[in-house]
Amino acid sequence: MGEFDDLISANKTFADDFGLGGFDGVAHAGVAIVTCMDSRIDPLSMLGLKAGDAKIFRNPGGRITNAALEALVLGVHLLNVNRILVIPHTRCAMASSSQSELREKVGASAGQDASWQHFHVVSDQVAALAEDIRAVTSHPLIPDSVKVGGFIYDVDTGLLDQKF
Ligand SMILES: [Zn+2]
Repeated sequence: MGEFDDLISANKTFADDFGLGGFDGVAHAGVAIVTCMDSRIDPLSMLGLKAGDAKIFRNPGGRITNAALEALVLGVHLLNVNRILVIPHTRCAMASSSQSELREKVGASAGQDASWQHFHVVSDQVAALAEDIRAVTSHPLIPDSVKVGGFIYDVDTGLLDQKF
């Protein structure tokens, strides 16, 4: 106990002025975002959105995994999503390291073998994004009426560069 005190205290302050109570869980702006876990990315702010506007799915690299597809199918059919943005970013560790490099670094940090841990590294970010966009648009449960865009977010300028 105690390790989370600063955060719990901040949460009490947050709850003092809580405006999201009784709010439904749909995406009010009709937007779903798949992006990287990178702490330099603020997915709502970078699109001018606010809490309640979007469904957000994050993982290392912002890749379309089976879990991401599951989230998008639910978003499209049950949660008001009609636009999907897939947003990997510049200077992403998943795109600048090899699987063996990540296994080596994690292994060194953990002080034990990490060669069994899978990391979804990307060798060509734009090619991977193209493949991910195809995985979304070709999904049988995601209809053509849903608009799907692929972007690279520049962590140094804050700008999105649309690729697809
Ligand atoms: Zn990243």
